[in-house]
Amino acid sequence: MLTIANLVPDLLGTYGDGGNALVLAQRARARGEETLLVSMALNDELPDASIYLLGGGEDGPQRLACDVLARSSLASRARDGATVVAVCAGLQILGTTFCVEGDDRYAGLGLCDVTTARGSIRSVGELRVRVGERLLVGFENHGGRTTLGDGVLPFGRVEHGRGNDGVYDGFRAGTLWATYAHGPVLAQNPWFADAVLSSVLGYELEPLDSVADLLYEERCRAIRS
Ligand code: GLN
Repeated sequence: MLTIANLVPDLLGTYGDGGNALVLAQRARARGEETLLVSMALNDELPDASIYLLGGGEDGPQRLACDVLARSSLASRARDGATVVAVCAGLQILGTTFCVEGDDRYAGLGLCDVTTARGSIRSVGELRVRVGERLLVGFENHGGRTTLGDGVLPFGRVEHGRGNDGVYDGFRAGTLWATYAHGPVLAQNPWFADAVLSSVLGYELEPLDSVADLLYEERCRAIRS
């Protein structure tokens, strides 16, 4: 059974990022995988899952979500090999520190050497990122500027928008996948959803024709570098 857990969507759910969990579940089921989709509310225990999803959030809810997740077993499960897909505030929470509400600095979950400071400008608009042969498309809205430590690979190189710092977007570190792109990003980038599923299931997925590919191609054309 493949269990996919959407974490504290009541706090980290701006821009419909909870749709990422739905997309993973749908695409896994379309490949014949028995899949369970669960959601962790504010006062719930962390569910036992193979994939955890963290969405974006405003500064206050982001800090609260971080407190809740720091008290949970998420960090130890991730260290034990669970996959985490994180967007925007979720990305910042995975790192060692992040700034919200002005320049106040908070401890993140410390799962990787990634820090987020307050940027001089807010990054708002379309985002297009080169990830190997692929493009990642979506939109961003954040005040944070993220720096990756040695050994943490960016998810991709920004072609339009700002991402972490105007050059790179997101990161990959072991079983962690992180990006600044909303969309929901896995709905707009079906290849990304399948890459996450392939890594968790341990085999290459057969292509799946769907209207999502048309949306993806349309967005790639619309967001010029
Ligand atoms: N609060 C964070 C920031 O502004 C994240 C915003 C978001 O998740 N969209 O940087």
